[in-house]
Order: sequence, then structure tokens, then C-alpha cells
Amino acid sequence: MNFTKIILYKEPAISEINIEKLTKFLEDNFPFEVKIEENIFKKFDLKNIKELSNTRITDIRNSFSKYDSNDTEIKFEEKLCRNSSIMDSTTKIEDAQEISQVFMYDGFELQKILRYLNEDNETLQVILTNRLTCTFDENDKRYHARAVICANPSIISTTGIVEAPAKPKEYYFEVMKLRTQGLDIKSAKEKYKDKFLEYNDKRLTKILEGYLLQIIFYNITGESFCEDIECRLNNAHWQKDLLFSQLEISKLCKKHNEILTSLN
Ligand SMILES: [Zn+2]
Repeated sequence: MNFTKIILYKEPAISEINIEKLTKFLEDNFPFEVKIEENIFKKFDLKNIKELSNTRITDIRNSFSKYDSNDTEIKFEEKLCRNSSIMDSTTKIEDAQEISQVFMYDGFELQKILRYLNEDNETLQVILTNRLTCTFDENDKRYHARAVICANPSIISTTGIVEAPAKPKEYYFEVMKLRTQGLDIKSAKEKYKDKFLEYNDKRLTKILEGYLLQIIFYNITGESFCEDIECRLNNAHWQKDLLFSQLEISKLCKKHNEILTSLN
């Protein structure tokens, strides 16, 4: 696909996202016009809101079936659309007694709702959101959190970036131990803070650059990810790999760098 323009829709609830930096990153690396738009969900009408609420996942062990939202849920979804920072008041994965308490959305179904944005083939639309996107994996028959849905429109979930790549195993053991002792998990978080991203992490903007690259490469070449861990297109399954590729290495492998050069 030959894009001439990228539209990036903001997520205002996450103040750590430096949109000017992301704009500059895109302008410096690609020959596209970059346009910034307000949060997409703010503009949703009631029909969109209802559809959005119906993409929620309540059972992670079954593939998607349309959720039948009640009026209270639709009203709450509307509130979330108007003010996405309300998402902070919902249950986070680490605090959930049961996973169904967490607000999760089917990423592909959400993508379908957003397709109305596509006006032409020359514009790539990228939605930033703090909604947690998940996709069903046919191999292990369950939903998994996803940081990015590569398509057009594409979706980057800031919650997915925190929750999808796994934290160190030792961290989970330590959390479990503290929980059984009835203790706060803060000490474990402090001990492993350099090993994974937190909500409202200052490193988020730099990490987002990597996901933007993955989206752009997917839409241009049809391949989203790179096997090379020393490449920003690497699909990290672990937080430590994500931090390594995006922060320590922070560049593309030779092959992908050549593709990038050829675009300019
Ligand atoms: Zn690569």
C-alpha cells in the first residue's frame, strides 16, 4: 500500500504519551503527512457505543460471541467514550479476583467498528486507546491481551502494552507469595520495576514508536513482525524483550532498515 498520510488518534488519559515526539518520529522516518486527531471514541454516536460495548469479552475461554450489553453497561461505555480516564476506575488485571471483572474488548471486532474511518487507500489510521484489546487464540483456545492490532485502521492498546508481554516469572511468584501472606505487592513491583512497564510509564512514548513501526511495516509489506530481537519490529512476548528491542537496541535490523530507506 502506498500511504501518503497517517492519522494518529490521541489517548488523552495517558499523559505520558508525548504526541509531539511521536509526530516528529513519524515525520523524520516516513515521507507521509502526519495528522493528529482527538480521541476517536469521543466522537462515537450511540450506535457506535452500543456496538463497542457489545465487543466486550466476559469469558476468555470461548471465542467471540456478541455480548448483549444492558442499558447500565451502555451508559457506562458512553461515559468511557466521553472521558477515557474513567477507565482507571475499572478493575486492573493485577487486582482482579476474576478475569471477567476486567474491561476487555475483542480487538478484531473493535477494528471492524472502526473501519468506517477509511475514506481512501492512501491514509493509514492509527487509534491509540487505553481500552484493553484481546484476541482469541485457536491454539490454546483462550483470549490473550494484545498490544497492537495491525490493520487499517490499526489499534494500539496502552493497557495491552503493559499487560500483553509477560513480566518475569519470579515477579509473579513473589506477588503470589505476598498475596497469600496478605501483604501489599508494592515491594515486588519496586524490586522488578526496571524489568517491565508500569501503567503511566515514562518510557511509553519510546515504546509506542516501535508499535507504530510494526503497524506501518505491516500495512506496507504485509509482514508485521521480525524474528530478530535486535529489531524494533520484534513481536515481544516478554516485557524484558520489549524493553530490550525498543529501548536498548532502539533500531531496525539491516533488512528492515533497508526497506525503510527505500520508502524515503
Ligand atoms: Zn527486522
